[in-house]
Amino acid sequence: MSHVCDNGINIYDLHRFSWNDGPGIRTVVFLKGCNMDCFWCQNPESQSSRREIFYYKERCINCGNCVKACPENCHFCDKSGIHVYDRGKCVKCGDCVKVCFSEALGAAGKRMTDGSIMEEIIKDMEFYQMSGGGVTLSGGEPLLQAGVCYELLRKCREKNIGTALDTAGNVEWSDFQMVLPVTDYFLYDIKALDDEIHMKACGVSNKKILKNLRKLLNKDVKIIIRVPVIPGINDNVDTVRSIAQMVRGYKSVEKIELLPLHNIGRSKYRALEREYRAGGLTTPGQGKMAVLKRSISLV
Ligand code: SF4
Ligand code: SF4
Ligand code: SF4
Repeated sequence: MSHVCDNGINIYDLHRFSWNDGPGIRTVVFLKGCNMDCFWCQNPESQSSRREIFYYKERCINCGNCVKACPENCHFCDKSGIHVYDRGKCVKCGDCVKVCFSEALGAAGKRMTDGSIMEEIIKDMEFYQMSGGGVTLSGGEPLLQAGVCYELLRKCREKNIGTALDTAGNVEWSDFQMVLPVTDYFLYDIKALDDEIHMKACGVSNKKILKNLRKLLNKDVKIIIRVPVIPGINDNVDTVRSIAQMVRGYKSVEKIELLPLHNIGRSKYRALEREYRAGGLTTPGQGKMAVLKRSISLV
């Protein structure tokens, strides 16, 4: 029985040749929609399951193409000929994006069939084989579309392509159960063990996340624990060491990765006219990262 709904898979991006999302060279499919609200999220376009329109004002050349293309009159030029985008009336049809050749406008979110995604994936078969890589489903939270994840990963397995799934874990255990038979690697994000801090940082409790992780640790899978290092939230030895101690001794855990906060998503917030709430934070320096890495290596 197919788990794929007729509307296809809701994705916002697809990257080929990634080295950072599991072993080897990978194609990463980014599924749209997340049920958390981490204040530093570097992919704001991943959070809503609905399509969104980016507007990078600094790239606009005031050509007026979008003014003619928009059926809702969301684009216009003011008295001095400067282009203005009125987001309030936008129905996200994407017509303006197609005619904006300077890429000031962009769309995040489209539906693809699993067949068309597989066509992209199989283009890099030789690189997966050469490097021990494969496919990673990421997000947003891919397990909010657990059925389509299962179908896609199953098709990869049929073709002997390695499979991985990057999750924040805030879903039902039944979602994990669905994909377990077809997933080689879980990249499991942990942000904080203290529930109050987690609520403050991510807008949700971590209870379900930790409960799912405890169950997953005992399964016959490979797990990479990923900890985004966020100043004021978890950038201290006690927290990262506690996370390491929690997963120590499980043969399913291949490694723990500490990923320093970066600010590359800042321009995307501007382009979506959303507030970037981590603007006051600086990237943890090499010295701090070395101390944190050393602290988990001693656990
Ligand atoms: S996405 Fe559609 S409705 Fe929105 S501004 Fe562009 S053309 Fe107009
Ligand atoms: S089509 Fe693009 S470059 Fe031209 S006015 Fe619209 S936003 Fe600006
Ligand atoms: S879980 Fe990931 S995608 Fe979701 S809000 Fe947090 S950082 Fe963003």
